[in-house]
Formats: sequence, C-alpha cells, structure tokens
Amino acid sequence: MAADSLDQVVSLCKRRGFLYPGSEIYGGLQGTFDYGPLGVELKNNLKRLWWQHNVYERDDMEGLDASILMNRYVWRYSGHEQTFVDPLVDCKTCKGRFRADRLGDAACLKNSKQHPGECEGELTEPRPFNMMFKTQIGPIPDPESFAYLRPETAQGIFVNFRNVLDSSNRKLPFGIAQIGKAFRNEITPRNFIFRVREFEQMEIEYFCTPGQDEQIHNTFIEDHVNWWVNVCGLSRDRIELYEVPAAELAHYSKRTVDIMYRFPIGLEELEGIANRTDYDLGSHSRDQEKLEIAAAVNPNAHSTTRLSYFDQASNRHMVPFVIEPSAGVDRGVLAVLCEAYEEETLENGETRVVLRLKPALAPIKAAVLPLKKNEPGIVAAAKQIKNMLQATGQMRAVYDDTAGIGKLYRRQDEIGTPYCITVDFDTLGREEENGLKDTVTLRDRDTMQQERVAIADLPALLLGRIYGAS
Ligand code: ATP
Repeated sequence: MAADSLDQVVSLCKRRGFLYPGSEIYGGLQGTFDYGPLGVELKNNLKRLWWQHNVYERDDMEGLDASILMNRYVWRYSGHEQTFVDPLVDCKTCKGRFRADRLGDAACLKNSKQHPGECEGELTEPRPFNMMFKTQIGPIPDPESFAYLRPETAQGIFVNFRNVLDSSNRKLPFGIAQIGKAFRNEITPRNFIFRVREFEQMEIEYFCTPGQDEQIHNTFIEDHVNWWVNVCGLSRDRIELYEVPAAELAHYSKRTVDIMYRFPIGLEELEGIANRTDYDLGSHSRDQEKLEIAAAVNPNAHSTTRLSYFDQASNRHMVPFVIEPSAGVDRGVLAVLCEAYEEETLENGETRVVLRLKPALAPIKAAVLPLKKNEPGIVAAAKQIKNMLQATGQMRAVYDDTAGIGKLYRRQDEIGTPYCITVDFDTLGREEENGLKDTVTLRDRDTMQQERVAIADLPALLLGRIYGAS
C-alpha cells in the first residue's frame, strides 16, 4: 500500500476532482491549488476529525476563529518582522532565486536536470528574505497603512488569550484550538500541496504553568502521532520523530519535535510540536509601563493588555508557558492520499486503482448503483435508498448510473468510497419468492466482498462501520 511516486497522486487528484492548479485557465499562480468537489470533502473530513479529537473529546479546550488580517504590530512584537526569514540566493547566470538551505528541491532555470550550485551558475551569498505577504489597508496607499497576511494562525490565539480567559473562566492548564488559513511567500513552492504559499493550519496553543510544560509537550507528541495513525490511517512505520537541533530552533522555541512522514518525495515534516515557553504572551505584554507611555503617543503601536494569568494558589500574576502542536491541513491531505493510494493487481491480471482511505475520511461514503438503468423499478428503489442515506445527515451518498456496474465499482474504488450498494431484481422481489425482497448487495471497497443486507438495516450498519472504524 501507498503511492510510489507523487505523480500517481497528482494525476489521480486532477483526473477525479480532488485538486486543481490555482488560476489554471490563466496559466496558474505558483504555489496555489484549488480543492475540487472530492478534495473539499476530504479536507473538511480531516479538519472535522481533528476538531473532534482535540476539542470535543477533551474538557480542557476552547475553539477560536481569529481574523487573517491583524494589526501589523502583532508581527513586530511576535518577532516575525525580524526573524521570519528564509535564506535567499540568486544565480548570476540563470537569474533564478532559490532557498539556500533547500537547493536540492530546486532546479536550475537553464538546465532543469541540475540543482542550483551543481551547474555552471554562480550563486550569490545568502541574504534574509521575509516570507510575510503584505497588503494595503484602506483606500489610500500610505506606507504606514499596510497589514500582513498571517504566516501562522498562532498569533490570533495569543492576542485573544485574555478575551478567552475572561469569557470562559478557564483555569490553567487549558488550550485554545484553531483551524485556518496561513500565507507564506515561499521562495520555492514545490511538490504539489506539500509546500504552497496559501495553506491551512490546525493549531493548538496549550497554556500551562512553567514546570508542567515538558510533560505536556511529550503527551501531545504521543497523542498526535497516535491520531495520525489511528484516525487518519497513516502507517506508524512511515512516521518518525525529529528532535529539532538547538541551532535550528525557531526564535520562540525551547524545544521542538517534528512529526515526520515518509512521503514519496522523502521524509518530511507533517506537524511541528513546539514548546514556545512564555515567549509570545510575554512579548505582547512586555515593559508594560514603557508601553503605556508609548501608547499615549501612538495607541496602535503597542499592546496595552497584560497577557498574564492570576494564579490563586500562589496569589500572583504569571505568564503561562505554551505548548503548540501545529499541523498543516494540506500536508495532512497529501499524506493520507499518498498512504491510501494503491495500484492492485487482481487475480485476472487487471490493475485496479484503489484509495484505501479510512471510511470517516472518504469524500463519499456510499454509492448507490442500479444494476440496470433502464428498469424504472430498480432506478426508483436506488434513488430512494440514496435519499434515505442522505437523510441521516451524516454521510455523503450518491446515485450513479452512468456506466456498467463493473466500471462504476472501479470509479468508486479510485476515489476511496468504502461502500457500494447495488439494487437488482431481487430487491424488487420480482423473482420467485427467494427471501431477498427489500435487500441489496453491499460491496466493500477493500475486500471487494459482497453481502446481502436488508435496506432497513443500511443506515445503522453503515454509520457503525464508517464512524466506528476510526
Ligand atoms: P518547513 O520546514 O517544511 O518549511 P516549518 O517548520 O516552517 O515547515 P511550521 O512553521 O512549523 O513549518 O508550520 C507548522 C506546519 O504548517 C508544518 O508542519 C506544515 O505542516 C505546515 N506548513 C508550513 N509551511 C507550509 C507550506 N508552505 N505549505 C504547506 N504547509 C505548510
């Protein structure tokens, strides 16, 4: 199981409507992709399962959905204006621009078979390149009136720490979860949706007292590895933990462990779990007195709120420590697609492409297929069954009669539909009394085994198999 090359997955995604290159009819926009009808379902399912696990199944978590546009001083005090940079080099020969620490991901503009630095071209010394996108705020293009598109969702949580604390009466430890878009002006967007300029993150900022942080950090690492394996179906053998060396840590981090997944392009980061200490809450409320004086001059220039917590036990204000699990939605989608993809050779020698997605992640849960599309009784029964499954409100079910049954099964296998339901003459009870009236054939995607099931039992049976299975 699992794709051998990224091309297999890219081609399936385009062919079947999971993902398309962004702005394709105008020649595209590098580093952007659009999720098609099946892709949006898969992505929404992944996000829903993450929210379910991290918010609904816990008692210590709140949710948030903060603005993408934020006051630009957020990014000054978070440290991003200064340090959210990648090293950029130019090639004096081909005029290409590349990320100095990822030359192996890039190709020379004159000879696409060679990486920059391996060819004739001479590279400049690396210089820092800030990855935040800027956009103008308001109608007048004044150099002061701009905002950044957020490069991480985390800061939206930090600046709302006080609001959530005051409105929810939470006590430490507790966390705030958020799923949302982030933007990075990546120097070399590459590898399909692995590295893009617009993507989504699923993040938690978990606030605790200093001293609890190391243990909570380890617990999140273990819990999130288990989530990727048990809920998303990634194989444990393809996951490795990477202890980020001190020299490579982000400016806010005391320790970061990356959950790495073996994609067909190699072992790469899927989720980073960082101990951000009191860095962010502290920087947004640093030097309170000085800030209040400055705020009198320019009220927007500094935070005037102290992002601290009153600890009743010690009767003092303290700045909590923060553990941050930060996962990419798009990298998650790519990982589950790569893991699930299989080209299986059948007994008759034919090859079938099958996406062995966890049923809860599958875009379509059940396809109802009439054995004969010219038989009004069969068609009506099939549509009724599809409506009945749709009415559960918990699954996307479709009706399809656009090909013969064998071809319809293959199409559903390729997009990961776990169950096909076939309506035939027995369903209508027209044959000799054979006890099969009001029953259908239920076909399992993975085993291709078929069983006869009463129509009335279908909703409960399918819901149990789909959601009980993850
Ligand atoms: P990388 O080293 O691959 O650039 P990072 O360490 O900068 O990643 P983080 O800042 O830790 O990434 O972001 C958290 C998560 O957001 C990553 O684990 C990844 O899943 C996702 N992510 C970050 N950058 C991108 C991107 N350009 N495209 C898609 N997903 C991304």
